[in-house]
Amino acid sequence: MTNSAGDLSGNFDAAVIGGGVMGCATALHLARGGMRVALVERGGLCTEASGRNAGTLTPMFPAPFLVPYAQRGMEMWKTAPQWLGRGIGYQARGGLELAFTEAEVAGLESEMGERVRAGAPIRIMDIEEARRIEPSVSAKARRAAFCPIDGFIESNAGGRAFRSALLGDGVTVLDQTEVLSIERRAGAFALATGAGNLGAGRVVLAAGAWIPKMAAWLGLDLPITVRIHQMVVSERLAPLLRVVVRIFGRGSFKQAVNGSMLLGTVLHWISAADREADEIDRVALIRRMAWAVRNGCEAIPGLAGARVLRTWTGLEAYAPDNLPVIGPLPGMDDAFVIGCQRSGFTCGPFMGRLLADLILGRQPELPIAHPVFDPGRLLAMRPDANSTTARALS
Ligand SMILES: Cc1cc2nc3c(=O)[nH]c(=O)nc-3n(C[C@H](O)[C@H](O)[C@H](O)COP(=O)(O)OP(=O)(O)OC[C@H]3O[C@@H](n4cnc5c(N)ncnc54)[C@H](O)[C@@H]3O)c2cc1C
Repeated sequence: MTNSAGDLSGNFDAAVIGGGVMGCATALHLARGGMRVALVERGGLCTEASGRNAGTLTPMFPAPFLVPYAQRGMEMWKTAPQWLGRGIGYQARGGLELAFTEAEVAGLESEMGERVRAGAPIRIMDIEEARRIEPSVSAKARRAAFCPIDGFIESNAGGRAFRSALLGDGVTVLDQTEVLSIERRAGAFALATGAGNLGAGRVVLAAGAWIPKMAAWLGLDLPITVRIHQMVVSERLAPLLRVVVRIFGRGSFKQAVNGSMLLGTVLHWISAADREADEIDRVALIRRMAWAVRNGCEAIPGLAGARVLRTWTGLEAYAPDNLPVIGPLPGMDDAFVIGCQRSGFTCGPFMGRLLADLILGRQPELPIAHPVFDPGRLLAMRPDANSTTARALS
């Protein structure tokens, strides 16, 4: 349903394209900073990656530099009733990451060590101690890392919460409205949408896996690649698992409040988000589902025999260096991008607030005009789905 679409031709201070967590958070904070904002989303708010994700909140997964950003994002989800007007099922549970093989032990110790040095409250422990925290995990694991602040959230409820907050703060929410092109005209941007044209002094590209297509409208070829993630959901089970469990490099497992077990894993890379239907490998989908279930049973033996009810996929964008892309587009001071954030749901509300601060000329709580985020760095890179980074992620 399109909302508040009355004055489509009116000029906005900023048009945010893409109503996932990144776009919603940016639009909300721009409006709270006094800007007249349009948020344009071709479907419903938070229905792509931001509504299909596993909802895990953890500082164990983002790059070490991003640990303080992830912790701020987690705090925002925890306090959502205060800034978003309502909570979306936040559960503080703690998280255990398990390592079974020698390679997994080495990877776990090295990666978690880096995050501890970056300030994450993670403890590496033997499996006996881990089983005192979560008796359901397998005694066959060799090593574990525990983060007491981990939790999860019902990400599929985020769209409704953002919608009422955005409307309450005066954002013109144009959902079910696809942006078809962006043109620069006389110092502003003209957006052609499925529901008419609109003008804005600034644009923010927050279109997740579809960012490259939009950047191309502004003459930029950004080497962003797209990966399919997969979720598998079991029937409702009796209480089995309290904490969020992961196996290093393999996937995550959590028991939702309704008893279903949620298994998250990754599928494969595709060349572009618009090619998902052509390039999704259905055999790999089934194999990966079986792999996720086997991993689940290895980590949590009590899962054996549980029936799988359904599986779905979602798309995530990645920069070649696996770091976020947030800030002004190269050569422009009025066009911005926000995306490619690993653990983007964890960090999303905070990153949107930081980008809004940058656009509003305010002092951000943590650095955002930083080389780590700079979209300009991408111009010197090429996508390489066979790179070490890509392989390490799969
Ligand atoms: C299956 C899965 C599991 C995940 N698990 C976790 C997790 O447990 N924890 C975590 O922190 N992160 C997780 N992530 C990552 C996280 O979900 C993403 O990083 C984050 O949601 C990205 O948000 P976004 O706003 O950048 O993109 P999206 O949520 O994809 O939003 C982009 C929006 O742009 C819109 N759009 C595209 N083209 C147009 C157009 N032409 N006009 C208008 N709108 C357009 C799309 O419809 C979409 O709604 C997971 C991701 C997936 C896919």
